[in-house]
Amino acid sequence: MAFEDPAPRNQVVVLHTGYSREEGTAMRANCTCTLVRCRDGTNILVDTMTAWDGELLRSLLSDQGLGVGDIHVVVCTHGHSDHIGCNYLFQEARMHLVGACASHRDLYMDHFGSEQEDELLALDSNGEVVVQRTPGHTLSCVSVVVKNSQLAGTVGITGDLFERREDVDDESIWKGAGSEDEKRQRVERSKIAQICDFIVPGHGPLFLLTTEMRSKLKKDALGT
Ligand SMILES: [Zn+2]
Repeated sequence: MAFEDPAPRNQVVVLHTGYSREEGTAMRANCTCTLVRCRDGTNILVDTMTAWDGELLRSLLSDQGLGVGDIHVVVCTHGHSDHIGCNYLFQEARMHLVGACASHRDLYMDHFGSEQEDELLALDSNGEVVVQRTPGHTLSCVSVVVKNSQLAGTVGITGDLFERREDVDDESIWKGAGSEDEKRQRVERSKIAQICDFIVPGHGPLFLLTTEMRSKLKKDALGT
């Protein structure tokens, strides 16, 4: 054989790019929704948009050759309505995680029950796709960190820890989206930035972290 297949990697697929913008005194927003196809076969869906997006989400998954029954784990980075709306579609999933709260049907499990801030929850058998706490936007917020991705780097799917790329330079963007602990959020933003190469933010497209962005985030975190 002339060529060997490259080592399989975990696939991060942004199904829907989120947005948020002011409309008069209101805000129009929907989340970025991301599929992670782990190389061990586990399919994870991160953030399920609003309750009105069921048909859209079904069709986005079908574009990937998947049905709602093929999702094994649903992770909502936090409990706001634009991140949990279609959880009901995924009734075959072995776990729904909403922020740090894990459940299956009416059974609530004690993952993240240890109160250890640095507790990690691996979602795949290789330990390459993990959930970790990233409080700030809400105190229960989590992020999914995907190592060994097809992008040849580590991807942080962070929900509203980052609203969108532009909020690295303009803090008013993530603060304006609401933060239950701004100081904590700055620290968590920097921590995630140090371990990731790419960020999938809560309401914008995936972006690459540059060295400059990492130092800016570190400076912001230390300055508080
Ligand atoms: Zn949001």
